[in-house]
Amino acid sequence: MTGKRVTGKPKTKSESRPIPVHHSSIVAGFETARGELVIAGVPVGQLTRRIGSTPYFVYDRARISRRIAELRSALPKRVGISYAMKANPMPAVVQHIAPLVDGLDVASAGELAVALDTPMPASRISFAGPGKRPEELARAIAAGITINVESERELEVINDIARQQKSRAQIALRINPDFELKASGMRMGGGARQFGIDSEQAPGILHRLRRQKVDFHGFHIFAGSQCLNAETLADTQAQTLALALELAANAPCPVQHINMGGGLGIPYFPGDTPLDLKQVGASLGRLTRKHATALKNIRLSIELGRYIVGEAGVYICRVVDRKISRGEVFLVTDGGLHHQLAASGNFGQVLRRNYPVAVATKMGRKQSAPAHVVGCLCTPLDLIGNSMALAHADVGDLIAVFQSGAYGLTASPTRFLSHPEPAEALV
Ligand SMILES: *Cc1c(COP(=O)(O)O)cnc(C)c1O
Repeated sequence: MTGKRVTGKPKTKSESRPIPVHHSSIVAGFETARGELVIAGVPVGQLTRRIGSTPYFVYDRARISRRIAELRSALPKRVGISYAMKANPMPAVVQHIAPLVDGLDVASAGELAVALDTPMPASRISFAGPGKRPEELARAIAAGITINVESERELEVINDIARQQKSRAQIALRINPDFELKASGMRMGGGARQFGIDSEQAPGILHRLRRQKVDFHGFHIFAGSQCLNAETLADTQAQTLALALELAANAPCPVQHINMGGGLGIPYFPGDTPLDLKQVGASLGRLTRKHATALKNIRLSIELGRYIVGEAGVYICRVVDRKISRGEVFLVTDGGLHHQLAASGNFGQVLRRNYPVAVATKMGRKQSAPAHVVGCLCTPLDLIGNSMALAHADVGDLIAVFQSGAYGLTASPTRFLSHPEPAEALV
């Protein structure tokens, strides 16, 4: 998911050029106190005692709030923000985010249950994803949330269930566009896909909606994720909106909502350039002004996962062994890919590169000889940091893996090797 490195090249020299982020600056974005990493105002030693065991994930609520505030000030007012819960579905995190955003996007009935526990109104919860089972669809219809329809057959099933429930289903069509989000970590549209209805098939399906037990709300078009280039995002958003407005002409009733997808990425690797959010906001502003007349009665939104939570999370594990093998230092921890698969490079990455890592109990100490940080699983894939310049760490020291707030615990094979699940805390 975080495979490709993308560097944004501003067109002119006068444009503000974002400073490339190196691991050291991600780490330096955190406070330290007496040589300890401080997370959400709490030194890591104290935090660890409070949580009671390692490894754990900790999420900083103030960072999440701040990120959403940055989005609010950069994006046009008329563009709503939805939180894509699969990035981090921890109930406390979702409860914290719900009042700060305009919608929640769920990808399963399990996530739907968490979303329905928040104050978010059902009309602002949407359910996307291929392979929705009839039981899940039935729950979604009964809850009155919007189902983003991924195929014509799914629409038939929805229609049948709505009839059985003697109600109507609230739906949007998810469209598989004929373009993709270029230079992104993961492409989710363009070509042949399991996601959405091919754009060329949409007019026929829209026509047939008139006869079905559904209320049509609009379109969902998601072209890809983890993009760090504002210009590429702007191009894709322009194509997305043009496609949605073109399809709107075939809709059985006026389109009320267009979900333009998201794709805003965060820097994970040395040399990654952070996304220029102001530039994203400015081009989105130009785009919505350009289509102002067509968009007059349409609610617009984007959906974001990792951009909201990714940088607010840290994975903490403890060194349980320090060994030297043929001259190389191995810091063996109680953590690993069973909790943080993406940091091991096995979550869709093409090339394995190190996530930002630090010795959380030895902050600011001078770097010792390169060390490999490994997990406790019996596989060479379980590598958290390959030959990293870190402070000297011993048994008992804590290791922090940054950028761990999205696609961490719930995107990892927790049952692999039957270790206990790590704790999670929102602080
Ligand atoms: C996963 C997903 C997202 C979130 O992607 P991020 O890269 O975390 O922002 C948004 N929309 C849809 C449809 C998704 O499947």
